[in-house]
Amino acid sequence: MHEAALLAQCPCSGGQGQGVTPLVLFGIAAVGAWLVYRAWCAWRKDGVSHMSKLWKIALVVVLVAVVAIVIINKQRGSSPGRDADKGAAQVSQPAAGLPRLLDLGSVSCIPCKMMAPILEELKKEYAGRIQVEFIDVMANPDAGGPYKISLIPTQIFFDASGKERFRHEGFFSKDDILAKWKELGVDLAVGAPAATGPTFSRLEPAKADDRPKTAVCHLCDGDINAKTVVVVKSAKGDVRLCGPHCYFIMYSCLTEDKTDFEKKVSVTDWADGKAVPATEAVYLYGAEERTGRPTVRAFASRAGAEKERQAAGGNILAWNVLQEKELAARCGFCDRAVYPQDAARVDTADGIHTWGCCSHCALGVAARTGKDITVYQPDRLTGEMIVVKTAGGSVASLEPKTAVAWFGLRKAPDGKFVSAGCFHQGFFVNEDNLKKWVEQNPTESGKAITIAQALADKMKLTPQQIQKACKIGECAPK
Ligand SMILES: [Zn+2]
Ligand SMILES: [Zn+2]
Repeated sequence: MHEAALLAQCPCSGGQGQGVTPLVLFGIAAVGAWLVYRAWCAWRKDGVSHMSKLWKIALVVVLVAVVAIVIINKQRGSSPGRDADKGAAQVSQPAAGLPRLLDLGSVSCIPCKMMAPILEELKKEYAGRIQVEFIDVMANPDAGGPYKISLIPTQIFFDASGKERFRHEGFFSKDDILAKWKELGVDLAVGAPAATGPTFSRLEPAKADDRPKTAVCHLCDGDINAKTVVVVKSAKGDVRLCGPHCYFIMYSCLTEDKTDFEKKVSVTDWADGKAVPATEAVYLYGAEERTGRPTVRAFASRAGAEKERQAAGGNILAWNVLQEKELAARCGFCDRAVYPQDAARVDTADGIHTWGCCSHCALGVAARTGKDITVYQPDRLTGEMIVVKTAGGSVASLEPKTAVAWFGLRKAPDGKFVSAGCFHQGFFVNEDNLKKWVEQNPTESGKAITIAQALADKMKLTPQQIQKACKIGECAPK
């Protein structure tokens, strides 16, 4: 009968007792031989009575060994994943100095079939970094024999020297495989794409930003619309913002005492363009029909707001109610106020949902929470969705695989390049889209990086740096 035919096909069917390993057999034989030798010596020296005592001891030792082996084998059979028994570690075939993942299964069992696409992806994505192999133990029992498996599928992890480091029985997801490699010291996600990563950069803007300072939003660098401008008085002069939303973003980032801060703020009457103290104005709060993104218009009088409401729809809100709405959704990394319609969606592995105010902040949620996350970030040029899953602080999967990140940088007065801030970052489904976007935005500067790199940049931040994220002056009045 083929050895493979004895294998259970699914871990849930329970493990078959694993054969006694050669090492254990050798141990028993050695102990037995030693006891027989001692018994023989004793017989020659002391006669029959001492000999029978030694035989009794020998019998007890062998019985204890047999019971121990039975217990160990039972535990092995019932454990779906376990670290490789060092004594029984398999040594794989020469692996060209690469770590190796070996999957032993068949083409017919269901969990084996589920493993097949995962193995293919790993083979392609990590070519040159790990060896991925599959043995069909039903078709080729001789090839599977040396690995002494008791279930299919079984995955065996070998290090670069060929030593078995871990084995797992049953279906093993790609995320779990990558996390296990990482635990074993083989970090496939970080640095892997660097060799083939994007090289595009534009560190000097193609065109200088020649707009007058008063026409540029302090926060988002967008054009200021005279009908919506918000002005904040500060010790260093007036800070001009493109509208109430950018004001609330800035407000959410302030680390100073915010008591009476709104007294420094004036908004613009949408109807006549005149400045009004922010707390005295009323606000027409609506939503864009297509996206649901909020629209906010300020009015000096309720009559003005009412007139506009009849034309454009929406609800009239007082300042404090508007503030509550504006501060309700926050970036899960930097705590900045966001509109979900502008943000990346972030789900954590334990079912918490949050937002990333930009693509890079979205990845930062993994650093801030220490959890595995899934990020949904639309391409900045086309809106196509990019999905990043992380595991243990590394990129576990990326859809589409061609996706890249733009790291927006600007030159500081000392000549060093620093982050250009959240409004200047983004993901793209491929490098071509990124280049087109950069072309359409001549004042942007920065460089293309892999999404793995963008995540690694966040993961290396200290808890203190994370706490200060976005609160280091970039968003505060200057
Ligand atoms: Zn703005
Ligand atoms: Zn953020």
